[in-house]
Amino acid sequence: MWCNAVMRLPARCALLIAAAGCPAPQVSPPRVVPPPADAAVDTPVPPVVTPAAPGEAPRLVVLVVVDQLPSWAFAIKRPHLTGGFDRLLREGEWHTGVHPSAATLTAPGHALISSGEPTATSGILGNEWWHRDVGRVVGSVEAHDGSSSAVWMRVPALGDALVAGATGGKAVSVGLKGRAAILLLGKAGLPIWYDRKLAAFKSFSTPGWLADHGRQHPILPRLDDVWTPRDPAQLARISQTTDDQRGEVGSKGFGPTFPHAPRKTASPADTVFALPLGNELVFETALAAIAGEALGSDAAPDLLALSLSAYDYVGHGWGQESWEAWDMMLRLDQQLAGFLAALDRRVGVGRWSLVLTSDHGACPLPERGNGGRLAFETIKNAANRAAAAELGPGEWVVAAKYPSVYLSAAARAKPPKELAKATTKIIHALRSFPGLERVERTADFAGNCARRTGDALMICLGLDAERSGEIFYLPRAGWVLHEKASPPATAHGSQHAYDREVPVIVLASDRAAAHPPLATPSTTPMPMVQISKILAGWLGITPPSALPRAAP
Ligand SMILES: [Zn+2]
Repeated sequence: MWCNAVMRLPARCALLIAAAGCPAPQVSPPRVVPPPADAAVDTPVPPVVTPAAPGEAPRLVVLVVVDQLPSWAFAIKRPHLTGGFDRLLREGEWHTGVHPSAATLTAPGHALISSGEPTATSGILGNEWWHRDVGRVVGSVEAHDGSSSAVWMRVPALGDALVAGATGGKAVSVGLKGRAAILLLGKAGLPIWYDRKLAAFKSFSTPGWLADHGRQHPILPRLDDVWTPRDPAQLARISQTTDDQRGEVGSKGFGPTFPHAPRKTASPADTVFALPLGNELVFETALAAIAGEALGSDAAPDLLALSLSAYDYVGHGWGQESWEAWDMMLRLDQQLAGFLAALDRRVGVGRWSLVLTSDHGACPLPERGNGGRLAFETIKNAANRAAAAELGPGEWVVAAKYPSVYLSAAARAKPPKELAKATTKIIHALRSFPGLERVERTADFAGNCARRTGDALMICLGLDAERSGEIFYLPRAGWVLHEKASPPATAHGSQHAYDREVPVIVLASDRAAAHPPLATPSTTPMPMVQISKILAGWLGITPPSALPRAAP
C-alpha cells in the first residue's frame, strides 16, 4: 500500500486518506542512517545537519524521474542493485505505477507526474506536435517565438502549486532535456537543463551560482573519458546476452558495441545524453542547487526534481536488455547512493522525502519477439496516398508523428462529405499495417473522458480534443514506431503494459526503521496521477490538480 505516502497529505486531504483505507497516521521515530562513504558526486564536505525531530515535516521534497524505466526491466535488474536503489527499497515502499493512457512519452509523462493530469487535460500530447494555427511542428516547451517555456501546459504543476501555496518554499528542477526540467515544474520555479551548444547547464536566466558551478566544473574535459563496461564478464552473466545483440544500433554517434569514446563522435558535447556521465552531471548540478538556492535550509519545504535522461537515450540506442543499459543502471545505482548520502549530510537525516519513478517504460527489443519497426514517414505517405485516392493529387497529410495524423489546411477546406470519405480511406489504409493495432477518428474518442470506460477512457485520456490530429493510431504489441532517419533499438509511447507500467518508490521523511529489502513491488498498483498529490502533501500545499482553473 501507499498509505505511508498518503499519510503525509495535509489534513484537508483526510477524505483521500480515508478513501485509501489507510489507518490513522502514526509518528515514527526518525531512522538514523549511518554516515556513508564519501560520494563520488558530492563535492566539499558541508556542515553536518542535525536529524529531524519526530513527526517534523520534510524540509526538502525530492522527485527523481529515471527517463524510460519500465517495470519489467527494473524487476529484472533489481536483484543486482545493491547501492542507492537497494537503500530506497530498504527504507521505502515500492509500487507499480500505471500511466493512464498511451501518451507514454517524455513530455506528457513529465507533465503528468508534476501536474497529476493526463494529456486530455494537461494539453501536452507528445514531445512535439503539428500546430494548425502556427502551421508547423512545435515542441512541447517551445513557444511561438521559439523560446523555451511551459506555454502549452493547460494546467498548473508543482512549481505553480508552490507559488499558489505561498509557503515560501522553492521549486528547482534539473534535467538533461529542457522539456523534462520545465514540465516538472510548470510555469514557475527554476528549471535547469543541459545545453549541448554550451556544454553546460542553464536556465531561462542562469543564476550566478550555476554559472560559477559551470566554470568550476567544466564538462568538456570529462569527455576525454571513454565509456567502457566496468565488468564485462558480469554483464555477460547478468544480461544473458552479448554486447553485439541483434537490434542494437547505438546512440549519439556511438556504435552498437563498447567502447564508446565521445571524442570519436561528430559532437562530443552531445554524447552527454547517452553516457553515465549525463546522470552524474544531473546529480552534481542538483547538489549544487541545494547550496546555491539554500534548499532544505528552513522549515518551508522546498522541491528538488531531477530527470535522468541518459537512461532513455541508452534504451533507445541499445535496448533495455543491452550491456549498455545494464552497465548504466549499475553505475546509476552507485551514483544514487552517493546522492542519497549527500542529502543526509546536506539536508539532514529524516529531513528529506523522495519519490523515484519514470515518465514511461519501453518495448522489449523487437528482435526478441514477434514485433517490428515502423517509421512515421511510412505512415504519413500511406495516409496521403489514401487521401489522394479520394481528393486527387495533393498534400493532404502534413504530419503523422505518433500518435496523430494531421490533415492539411487544404484537406480540411474540402466539403465535409469529401473529407469524411478521405478520412475513412486513410483509416482503412493504415489499418492494413501489421504494426498498427488501432486506427480511429480522434473525434470519436476525444473529449468528455469522464463518460468513458475501459479502452475508450484510456484512449481519451491520451488525446487533446483541440490539439490532436484528426486521426490517431496505436501500435500492436512489440512494434516500435520511429523517425525514418534513425530506427532505434527500441522506443515507447504505446498503450501496452511494457510502456505504461513503471516503478514508483516512495520514501516519507519520517519513515520507520529500515525493513528487509523489497524484492518485488506491492500488489496494489498506483495511478501515476497520485504522484503530484503525494509530493504536494509533503510540501504542505494544495495538489496542482485541485487548484482552481482559469476558464477554458
Ligand atoms: Zn522519456
